Amino acid sequence: MNRYAGKKIDIVEVGPRDGLQPEPEFIPTRKKIDLVDQLTEAGCQKIEVTSFVHPKWVPQMRDGKDVFAGIRKKDGVVYNALVPNLRGLELALAAGFREVVSIMSASESHNRKNLNMGVAESLSEIEKINAVAKRHGARVRSYIATVFGCPIEGDIPPRKVLDIALALEGFGSYEISLGDTTGMANPASAHAIPGMIRGKLVSASLAVHYHKYFGLEFANNLASLEAGVTVFDGAVGGLGGCPYAPGAKGNCQTEILVEMFARMGIGTGIDLEKLRQVGRYAQSLSSLLSQKCA
Ligand code: MG
Repeated sequence: MNRYAGKKIDIVEVGPRDGLQPEPEFIPTRKKIDLVDQLTEAGCQKIEVTSFVHPKWVPQMRDGKDVFAGIRKKDGVVYNALVPNLRGLELALAAGFREVVSIMSASESHNRKNLNMGVAESLSEIEKINAVAKRHGARVRSYIATVFGCPIEGDIPPRKVLDIALALEGFGSYEISLGDTTGMANPASAHAIPGMIRGKLVSASLAVHYHKYFGLEFANNLASLEAGVTVFDGAVGGLGGCPYAPGAKGNCQTEILVEMFARMGIGTGIDLEKLRQVGRYAQSLSSLLSQKCA
């Protein structure tokens, strides 16, 4: 008797953006387009394609407009772009995106370090992003980073995460993704925090976004599934940084996550064999993974 059989969940593939962003050597636009096209072919339903961050800070994503113009867009598949501020939103809309992803941290120090703003300031910026996006008919997905712990501040009170999640929902974000930015979650917190927040959200759906920690990321996803979460972020090939660089661990590897769910009888709509091939291609693009960091 398998109580999971026939259950359906959604996977959000973040490899092309979250995964490739920290790569030190510029990856040719053509190869980024290939990666997104292969993910579409494998059956991914939502793909984070790029970001619109100042190229001085994230030179790897400076070709976001060209990547989006070059990909083969399949009906029904959602392609989105990370925007850290209103300027990013304007660029994403001009490039043709109809879904953007906002980001802020639950930790004051981490937010200042990464976005050069306080938490209150970020909330106000995201409120504006939501308002402008809505006027353009675009949807907003929102990340909250450092939900399960901050490398600077340590524990983050779940109440603080809840307040931010409710504010984001109030601004109109249709989905909120709880980020374990540096791999600090454990199955207890991965059950308790999303479970508590999910029960308080009225309209927004809840996603989890775990980073690698020697396999603990899969236990964390399972714990969140048990808490009622149905949307899971992953990066194909486990792209996203080097475990030897503090604070830069890779993302949960999508093809293994999909295989775990498939073995449990849970459907994702993704062709696992094709996704494994995309994983190998993704790893071939990464100089971080081809060093001693796999
Ligand atoms: Mg990530």
